[in-house]
Amino acid sequence: MRIIKYGNPILRMKAKPVDIQSDGIHSLTEQMFVTMREDGGIGLAAPQVAVSQSFFVIDMSLINDGGEPTAIINPQIVDTKGESTVEEGCLSIPDIREDVIRPETIRVRYQDINGNNYDREIDGLEARVFQHEIDHLNGVLFIDRIGPMKRKLLQKKLKQIAEEESQYL
Ligand SMILES: [Zn+2]
Repeated sequence: MRIIKYGNPILRMKAKPVDIQSDGIHSLTEQMFVTMREDGGIGLAAPQVAVSQSFFVIDMSLINDGGEPTAIINPQIVDTKGESTVEEGCLSIPDIREDVIRPETIRVRYQDINGNNYDREIDGLEARVFQHEIDHLNGVLFIDRIGPMKRKLLQKKLKQIAEEESQYL
């Protein structure tokens, strides 16, 4: 699977809720696990592979001992607490990393690939990845969450990425 880059309008669309029974989700998530590994990401949202559906994959082996790549489907953040600043990057915005302020702890509801429902409070790196990926499902990128001055300094790089991406549109 090819990861689409900044400038591709699919990254700005709001993803549609997933019907686990009917959307070919099993095969898609398996392919996304491979792509995430190959590209060295800890998370990958469906819109990043041009699938505008509300799910993402996260490599839990990078978060917990014994964790595995996991698909998180139809996630909703229902509560947040605290604040932390962490440097983020994104496979769709290569070679750019910036500090992003987000809540430290979130309560999130989602389904897994088998349709089981979860309602969990999470924090640390896991909460950080969830928030970054859920942003993707809403058409939001981490560069939207940095200050206007910093974003201005990135304009040239961003324009370059968008120009390269335009050959695929
Ligand atoms: Zn991203």
